[in-house]
Amino acid sequence: MCGIVGIANAAGAAEYTYVGLHAIQHRAIEYAGMVTTDGSDAFTHHGTGVVRQVFNQPILDNLHGRFALGHIRYATVEDKNSHQRNIQPLIATVGDSFVAIAHNGNLTNADSLRQELLNDGALFATSLDTEVILHRFMRASGTPTERLIKALDGVRGSYTLVLLMPDMMIATVDPSGNRPLMLGQKDGGYFIASESAAFQAMGVTRMREIEPREIIAITKDTIKTSFLPDWTAGVRRRCRFEHVYYALPSSIMFGQDVANFRLRLGRALELTSPTLDADYVFGVPDSATFIAYGYGASGRSGIYVPGILRNHYVGRTFIQGRQGLRDTGVSRKFSVVPEFVRGKKIALIDDSIVRLTTMPRLVERLRALDAKEIHVRIGSPQVISPCHYGIDTPTHSELAAAMMSLDAMKTRINCDSLEFLSLKTLRSLSSKPDDYCYACWTGQYPACMEPQENAAPT
Ligand code: AMP
Repeated sequence: MCGIVGIANAAGAAEYTYVGLHAIQHRAIEYAGMVTTDGSDAFTHHGTGVVRQVFNQPILDNLHGRFALGHIRYATVEDKNSHQRNIQPLIATVGDSFVAIAHNGNLTNADSLRQELLNDGALFATSLDTEVILHRFMRASGTPTERLIKALDGVRGSYTLVLLMPDMMIATVDPSGNRPLMLGQKDGGYFIASESAAFQAMGVTRMREIEPREIIAITKDTIKTSFLPDWTAGVRRRCRFEHVYYALPSSIMFGQDVANFRLRLGRALELTSPTLDADYVFGVPDSATFIAYGYGASGRSGIYVPGILRNHYVGRTFIQGRQGLRDTGVSRKFSVVPEFVRGKKIALIDDSIVRLTTMPRLVERLRALDAKEIHVRIGSPQVISPCHYGIDTPTHSELAAAMMSLDAMKTRINCDSLEFLSLKTLRSLSSKPDDYCYACWTGQYPACMEPQENAAPT
């Protein structure tokens, strides 16, 4: 997953970008980059690691201008076998001018589009699908908005994009609206971010979401909205996993308050899969905390207590590259409060099971502290299919639920019972359930974003 922050027309644009990226650091921790402009020149800095490792005050002081574009990302399938520096924003210079681009999402026909460009003499500096869009933009004619529409015609998959040029910033969201992008405002400047939580950190007023197909072009004096053609014929496929896991609870996304959604999710999970007479409800922090709180709300299935603590200096274990690192990450990441465990019946709530790295280790900890019973409840259905749209679950063989029966998972976890939220219940939590993508839980990829190529190895 990735995160984007764009600032148009604000003093201290680089500092704002730093603060905004830092606020959404949970979305990606491996690379960070920024491009700024003073209206003519571009200033850039990119690096490996989290935002506070990549940037410092002297670096920010050299990122001049009132427009800035920042990006954070983690390594994905595109980085395998690649020796290139796949760090965004990408930047192309032409004469005195430049175009920088930042992308969240994943294209599903990037390989064939890349091949077309290669046949036409294009040279690629990275293995990112985003570079395909950049080349197509550079080759198109017309105003920046017209060029963007031409560049995206025939591009399939998921994208939120922000482009920066010397005198303009442009943002757009793909017609399915798969990934989030927000618009904010402060002192005459405009602010763009993958999550509204970034606006809180920047002290910016959240205006609204950028709608699917919408193109917003901002100069120092104007802001204009236009639209991409309706390539998906009105079909929306918002990522439900953003609500379940990725987004910060303090964000508002796809018209829903994330915290409120997770509380309702927890209540629905308790109704369908109660753990009657449990003493305590634990949530795996941070992403399942609100779900667990909702689960404990009725009091029938135990009372929510903060029985598992998270070390905030370890980072999200899932998004570290290799399995070995992930394994030690889980042990370093969590500690358990013995007071709440000894002799107790516990409902242990997580938002999802992916590779089955976290849960067996946590249950082992609870067993070692003499828990009486451990009932695992998961706030989403079994993840059985890789995501082609930007979430890093690349292969079937890595997905526990794709490879194992429910019983085998329960045995591996060593819990007293294991239940997942049903797809039906998940769908019931929205008034427009068909506007969402559920492909990771169903294996049914939306026709409007159908992977045309072997985008994800199986
Ligand atoms: P696992 O331990 O491999 O079963 O992964 C599940 C844990 O990682 C849960 O605690 C989730 O909160 C978190 N998680 C689930 N999906 C993802 C994802 N796509 N990226 C990062 N973390 C995830």
